[in-house]
Formats: sequence, structure tokens, C-alpha cells
Amino acid sequence: MNVVTTDLGAITRGRPVVESRLEKIAQTGVGWVPANLSITPFNSIADPNPWGSTGDLRLIPDLAARFRTASSGAATPFDMVAADIVELDGTPWIGCSRTLLKDALADLKAEAGLVTKVAVEQEFRIFDAGFGAAHAFSIGAMRRADPFCPTLLAALEEAGVEPEMILAEYGSEQFEITHAPTDALAAADRAVAIREITRDTARVKGWRASFAPKTALTEVGNGVHIHFSFVDTDGRPATYDPAGAGSLSRQAGAFCAGVLNHLPAMTVLTASSVPSYYRLKPHNWSSSYTWLADRDREASLRICPTVTIGGRDRAPQYNIEFRVADATANPYLSLAALVRAGLDGLRRSLKAPPLVTGDPTLMGDEERKALGLVRLPQSLPEALDAFLADKTVTGWFHPLLVETFDGVKRHEIARLAPLEDSAVCDLYGTLF
Ligand code: GLU
Ligand code: MG
Repeated sequence: MNVVTTDLGAITRGRPVVESRLEKIAQTGVGWVPANLSITPFNSIADPNPWGSTGDLRLIPDLAARFRTASSGAATPFDMVAADIVELDGTPWIGCSRTLLKDALADLKAEAGLVTKVAVEQEFRIFDAGFGAAHAFSIGAMRRADPFCPTLLAALEEAGVEPEMILAEYGSEQFEITHAPTDALAAADRAVAIREITRDTARVKGWRASFAPKTALTEVGNGVHIHFSFVDTDGRPATYDPAGAGSLSRQAGAFCAGVLNHLPAMTVLTASSVPSYYRLKPHNWSSSYTWLADRDREASLRICPTVTIGGRDRAPQYNIEFRVADATANPYLSLAALVRAGLDGLRRSLKAPPLVTGDPTLMGDEERKALGLVRLPQSLPEALDAFLADKTVTGWFHPLLVETFDGVKRHEIARLAPLEDSAVCDLYGTLF
């Protein structure tokens, strides 16, 4: 089994351990190296990095976050457990994104009395299957992959990620997986496990599953949509209020305002690669402005539909979807940023953002300004600069983590500079 952590380039890495040592390792961990956080998705170490060749850490597996399945068809069962990174004396390490998310969630609960419910919806494309053409969302698009989808569903169920649906999406050879809502930490663990189990199930068939944000410039993007809502500390729904703007509760409105307020500076944390910005364009059903809307798939925050058939209660269904994310971002860091931004909105008692209808690209500057519509960064360098220039957002993290992130991203930008955009898509299709 593998004890894993997910790094700043959204690659999940770790150490294999034998089952008989797991109980002991859950107490004292396995070895890890600080400079591992400076490893890039290209198997190089960003240079310079703040860690050098010195230092040692421990990966402490969280046994509640173990994902095991023998149903993917692989020769040996898939088995991973998410870990926290600590110093040798057990102190949390400042570079552990899983710990950063836990801390953000603890602050949200302590200060606002809110507990998150999160579901992550992930899109991916299958390569090397030799599929013939099929219509979007069609039975044929599912059947041509048979038995991939039922096999994957069984594997995900056995692993305990509570999958809800695997569907054939709109893009070529594109699929999507959703899971049942859970707290944000478990949702980030599930997002990682779902990617890895999907890749493993595809690998067994001699295929490749890619979650890259854009597998070709002309292709539909692969998004990671983060659905969130809140319950109070007694478990009562706390997101919906029919009297609120857009039916958002006062707290959910302030949270959304905080997110939109900080979004340009935190986009690099949720859409973290060069090709992320090929996806974040208008008219791509992804997102391109700071924008709250009711059931509009171009918005960065979409209020999702609720069903009232048979008199069903809207409150527990009511949730908001954050659409600015993709799988080149670390899900723990994405969610930590989302929670920190929302908590800032709560602390400042911000009013809910206006509900925008219509297309921001067709509006004049004045109209966009009045609605608070700000264009998101349009490239990785722009997004990185916006992040580094915002002391509130960088202040959510230890300066060494910011420095490491900057180093990894600068390395990525330099590595890709000589490539055409289409070659970047090809490369990321193999890396993610
Ligand atoms: N593929 C779109 C994206 O890049 C999302 C389509 C959908 O709404 O599911 O986010
Ligand atoms: Mg979709």
C-alpha cells in the first residue's frame, strides 16, 4: 500500500509500506524530504528552492483516508492512504497542504459555526482506446467504452469514495465522475483517490485517462467543479434562505463575496498550470470573470438547481459550484484558498455579490464595473503575479510555501516557453 501526499504541481507521490507495519507507521510515519515539495511535474527540482538537499520529515498516514479496491482489474489491489506531513517531533510541517486545509476548516467552524459539505466533479479524457465516433452524452459513447464505466464505478464504490455518477460528457472521449458530498477534507482525499483509481482502471485496459485542463486547443476542457454548501454545528443546512439574494443565507452570501473578492489573486491556486488558462476563456462553460449567477455554467460561482418535485425541501440540496478549478491544482490548496477567502468575507460581513445575468463579454466597462465583474488572469505568469502581489492571499500561507510554489511555477513557465500551445496540451495530456 502507498502512503501519499499531493504536491504543489498536483502530483500524488509517496512511499510504499507493507501492511504489517502500517499501525506503527500511523504513529511515527515514513520518511519524506522537504525538497520533494519543489519537484515539478517534469521530474525535475525547481532551482533555486528554499530547501536544498537538507532536512527530513515524516508522512503520517490518516487511516480514515485509506482507499482500497481490488475491482479495477489490476494485478494487485489499488491501495493508497492520504498522509499529513510533519516534522520529526510531530509538529505539522508548513508545506503540508492537507494540514492547511484542516486549519482553514477549523477556523471556519470556530469563527462562523459552519461545517462544509463538498462534492468534487471531475472531467477526464480517455486516450489510446481506439474509440470510434460517438454522440455527446449518448448511450453509444458509454457502450463503446464497456466495461470501463461499470468497472470503474465498482472500484470507486469498493474504495469508499461514494461515487454518484460516471457519464459520457460533451467532449471527444470525455467522461465525468461525481461523488456524494462530504466534508471538504474528505472531498479533497476523494478527488485524489478518484483520479488515481480512474487512471489505474484505464491503465489496466491499455488506455490512458487524462484530467489535463485542455487536451487539445480545439477540445472541450476538463474542469474540476467544486460544489460547496454549509451546515451549522448541529448539522442543520445553513446555505439557503428564501429571503436572501439568490436565496443565499447571509453567511453563504458573505462567503461568496469573499471568494469573488479574492478570486483573481487566488486563481493560480485553483487553476495552476499554463494550459489552465486555455480553458478559462469566455464561452467555454468554464469561467472567465468574477461572477455569481443562478444556474449559469459560465459563472465562476454557480448557484446550482434544486428540485421541488413532490414538495422536496430546497435547503439541504442548495449548493454553490466553484468552476475555476482543474486537476493541475492541488485540491487541498484549492479548498484551503476557497475557505480562507470565504472566511474573510464572513469576517468582513460582506454583502452577497449581485446575481449577474447575461454575458459579461457583451457588456461595457461601466456595466461590468457596476456588477463587480473582474476578468480573471489570462495566463499562468499573470495569475502568479496577481497572487504574489496580494499580501492578504499570500498571508494565508507560510512564506516558505509561497516561495516554493513560486519556484515550481516559474520553472513550469520557463520549461514551456519554447513550446507552441498545442504542444503544451499534448504534454499535459500525458502528465495529468
Ligand atoms: N467542460 C467544462 C469545463 O471545462 C464543463 C462542462 C460542464 O458544465 O459540465 O469546465
Ligand atoms: Mg461536466
